[in-house]
Amino acid sequence: MADPLPLCPPHRLPRALTSIADLRADGLVAAADAPALEAVAAEFRVRLSPAMRAALRDPGDAVARQFLPDRREARVRPEELADPIGDAVHSPVPGLTHRYPDRVILHVTQTCEVYCRFCFRREGVGSTGALPADQLDAALAHVAAHPAIREVILTGGDPMSLSARRIGAILDRLATIPHVGVVRFHTRVPVVAPERIDAGLIAALDIRPAVHVVVHTNHADEIGAEARAALRRLSRAGIPLLSQTVLLRGINDSVGALETLFRTLIENRVTPYYLHHCDLARGTSHFRTTIAEGRALVAALRGRISGLCQPTYVLDIPGGHGKAPLTADNLRETGEPGHWQVRDWQGRWHDYRDPVRD
Ligand code: SF4
Repeated sequence: MADPLPLCPPHRLPRALTSIADLRADGLVAAADAPALEAVAAEFRVRLSPAMRAALRDPGDAVARQFLPDRREARVRPEELADPIGDAVHSPVPGLTHRYPDRVILHVTQTCEVYCRFCFRREGVGSTGALPADQLDAALAHVAAHPAIREVILTGGDPMSLSARRIGAILDRLATIPHVGVVRFHTRVPVVAPERIDAGLIAALDIRPAVHVVVHTNHADEIGAEARAALRRLSRAGIPLLSQTVLLRGINDSVGALETLFRTLIENRVTPYYLHHCDLARGTSHFRTTIAEGRALVAALRGRISGLCQPTYVLDIPGGHGKAPLTADNLRETGEPGHWQVRDWQGRWHDYRDPVRD
């Protein structure tokens, strides 16, 4: 018999760590580093969820490095951008990105359960909460007025940081738009705050349009027993689960780390979907590999793990030109080391430069 679904007990959880003072008090930041990290935190928000605090074993490990501020974030390179994937370029109304004809991104909240140091939306996350009602109305009116839109991607921030009641209300409104057949959540919550995958949320997701959940996770050490149980609750509810991973220098840029992550995902009924080349967000060059390094890792995985475990390695072309799989037909070398051209979905070529190493 299935385990009963738990109800979320937020009053019993330890609280998230949201400041350098919190991290210092927990022994995760040394006193000597605090002033420099305060400056970083003033620019880019800090939040470490209780589940990720529990998964973190050492301030230098693969979990810690994703969430603990680093002095190197103060170093902004000329090629780095405030809006690296160009959401704003394709925004017909606030809170909505309409880049491709058949789908839109609806930014339902700016809040997350964690603030990742490499986040491509790090300029905005945490700045406000849920999308204001009048902006949500305008975004849904845009979707309703465009019958070519078949899929609505809920993102943010993290859409599953909203309450089940609020998520249910948004889904109920999307259900009234007949041409919307799929709603896709992009979320870190099943891994970083698994307690939120409770009976109320599962009930809210049981709706037409079909709900798919894309789980963002970057290292197998994030996926503890509670995250596995949350994924099981979602898969038992019949919700297709996919994953998205960012390739991160010093965190998962090894064949072993990626192999373990993708095997862990598939064993938990999550199909690896995308491996993202790290975006050009400000202050993140220490996380970026070169494209050649990423392609070599993907090639090395081919013979080691089954096709079921293989995500597509993609680049979100800076400037809002969309995703390109980093395959030979979409890439050409210019002859200058680290200088590539990448082809977008409309056949146009764009320059891309690998990070410069100091
Ligand atoms: S959870 Fe997603 S949107 Fe939020 S900070 Fe992390 S990467 Fe960015």
